[in-house]
This record gives sequence, C-alpha cells and structure tokens, in this order.
Amino acid sequence: CGIIGYCGPRRAAPVLVEGLKRLEYRGYDSAGIALARVDQQASETSETGEEPGPLRVIKCKGKIKDLRAVVPADLPETTGIGHTRWATHGEVTDENAHPHLDSTESFAIVHNGVIENFHQLKDHLMAEGVEFRSETDSEVIVHLLARAYQGDLAAALKATVSLLKGTYGIVAMHRGEPGRLVGARNGSPLVLGIGQGEMFLASDTTAILGHTRQVVYLEDGEVVSVTADEYITSDLRNREIHKEVDHIGWEL
Ligand code: GLU
Repeated sequence: CGIIGYCGPRRAAPVLVEGLKRLEYRGYDSAGIALARVDQQASETSETGEEPGPLRVIKCKGKIKDLRAVVPADLPETTGIGHTRWATHGEVTDENAHPHLDSTESFAIVHNGVIENFHQLKDHLMAEGVEFRSETDSEVIVHLLARAYQGDLAAALKATVSLLKGTYGIVAMHRGEPGRLVGARNGSPLVLGIGQGEMFLASDTTAILGHTRQVVYLEDGEVVSVTADEYITSDLRNREIHKEVDHIGWEL
C-alpha cells in the first residue's frame, strides 16, 4: 500500500517510520522496515572479501505506533526501505508484513500491488528448493531477485520484473551494495525525491515532502537506481532515460 525508501547520511529508521506515518491516511494493516549498513564495518569487511552482515528487518501487524515500539531509537543504518501493507494475498500476520527477505537475508523488497502469476512463480521456486516465509504474492519477487543477481541490482530487478504479471511498485536493496536502492513500477506509483546528499523513493509524495520538493515521477516500465548522490533511470531494455525533475510548490 505505502512505500518509503531512504539513502543518505542520516539514520534511516526514524526517516522511514516518519514517512510511513505520513502514508497512514491511505489505510493499512501492517508495517515494517529493512535496513542496510553503510559504515566503516561494511567497507572493512568487504575489503577482506566478506559480505556485510544480514539486512535488519523489523515488521509487525498493526499500527505505526506498534512498529515504532519495536524499532530501537539508535539504529545506525543509513539506507533502508519501509512499507505499510494492505493485505491482498495472505492474512494479516507479522510474517506477511513487508519487507520480505530472500533465504540468505541479503536482499529485501517492499511491494505495492498484486502479482497475478505468483502461484506459478512460487511453485517453480519451491520445486527448486526455495523456502517461503510468508503467504504473500510479494515474496516471489525477492527470491527471483536473489537468483537474478549477478553484481548489478538494477539489472537483477529488470530481469525479475520481466517475469511478473500484475501491478507493482517495488523498492529493493542488497547488503552487498549497502548504499543503493532500486525501484520499478507497473500500475502502482513510485516517485524519486532528490534531497541534498540524500535520496528518497516513495509511493506518494506525501511521504517525502517534508524533506524535499525536487521529485521525479517514474512511469510504468522504468527502473531507477539510487545512491545518496545520484540516480539513474532506465527502461527494461537497459536504455538510459533522462527524466524531468519537477518542483512541487504547493503546501501540505
Ligand atoms: N499484495 C501484497 C500483499 O498482500 C501487497 C499489498 C499492498 O499493496 O500493500 O502483501
């Protein structure tokens, strides 16, 4: 239902929770966040060839205040994604709340919309030994993403969405690229917010207007790859697209 993503110099958790709070008006039954480290520890471990630690996910059914109650105040991560869920497939449970992780806890996704061919994709993945943790249609996305990944998260997302039928706004992250978010959309809105040395992705400008008024609206079939300082928009055939930056002038 609602999506917010952040990468920049600030602690991500409070930015995400506050963004989710602003999306509450749309209605939801669960909420959650996933966080990736961009810090000394991450760069030191990658020099030794090790991956940074698993992504941190905190999610629960209920209200944003219930989520806030279980999010520690001092989480150091500076990149993350958040979601408010309005269940379409799978009951309202903690496990079915987004974000969803792949089996190695290296990839996390949030998804708005409905994946119509998820049964088929899930059967296929399960036949290959993938274990599912939720009953949602959305979880197939993160497993497909993990399998498509060959060092380029945006390329993996393009490969993934080319298998999906249905509607989606998706934002994804990978622990091996802890300062990056990627997003894609089809029939479900996604907007990029350009801040000073920080970037936002959201399903709705309401979530980010407190931070920036420079926005880029994605169209169906477009993918965006974002770091704190830059973004690249491209189509599913890997052609770069130069998008207009809109300035939002109106007040909330
Ligand atoms: N279809 C997904 C689910 O039920 C996403 C629903 C939404 O857009 O919040 O988990």
